[in-house]
Amino acid sequence: MAEELKDLLEKLSVSEEESKRVFSFSRFLSNSKGHEAWVIGKVMSNEKINKEVMYRVLRSMWFTKEVVNFVELKEKVILVKLRDVDVRKRLLNLNPWLFDQNLFSLTSYVKDKEIEEYIFNLSPFWVRLYNIPFDQMDRKIVLKVGETIGEVMAIDWRDRDGGWIEYIRVKVKIDILKPLRRVVYFVGKEDAEIVCAIKYERFPAFCYKCGIVGHKTQKCILEGGQKELY
Ligand SMILES: [Zn+2]
Repeated sequence: MAEELKDLLEKLSVSEEESKRVFSFSRFLSNSKGHEAWVIGKVMSNEKINKEVMYRVLRSMWFTKEVVNFVELKEKVILVKLRDVDVRKRLLNLNPWLFDQNLFSLTSYVKDKEIEEYIFNLSPFWVRLYNIPFDQMDRKIVLKVGETIGEVMAIDWRDRDGGWIEYIRVKVKIDILKPLRRVVYFVGKEDAEIVCAIKYERFPAFCYKCGIVGHKTQKCILEGGQKELY
């Protein structure tokens, strides 16, 4: 078998496609000690990013005294070596992180997990729901309305007992590869239909034409025939 293989390899002429190398993910991580505190992120944008500036801004926003190392593993996919699991917890809780209106989608690093297996398109956002009638504003209704946007992770009732509130905040995991939802039609008492407006807090730039995050209206990917998102 070994002889056969040797023979075959000698005769082989490698096509361009075949000559593309497969890189081991772990070659970047000669020392994965302390990986329990690491995170991995992807810049979900078609815009050109100055990474050095981005790293600097993130470091200052994260407000951490320890050294933070950034390692680009693949275009726009960046490993962030934090030193403290509590810092990691805090940063993930405070998702989403935006740089210059671009989303840096952050998730936990998992040892030996391939880059392709990470899910970056699902990101939590705080969303304001307007117009839900006050007398019908209960947990069930809020969950129902919230779930039309994405998976509801938390509800912020704000000052419910204090009387009138203008909106409710919900933390929702949103698939940013899908067009953004801007309203929810709510059918309330006596079949009265109400349009609930949705406002996204701290949201990255998105296209008003196709409703997808990561490019601006002037550069709509649907128009230019560009298939690749990010
Ligand atoms: Zn577009």
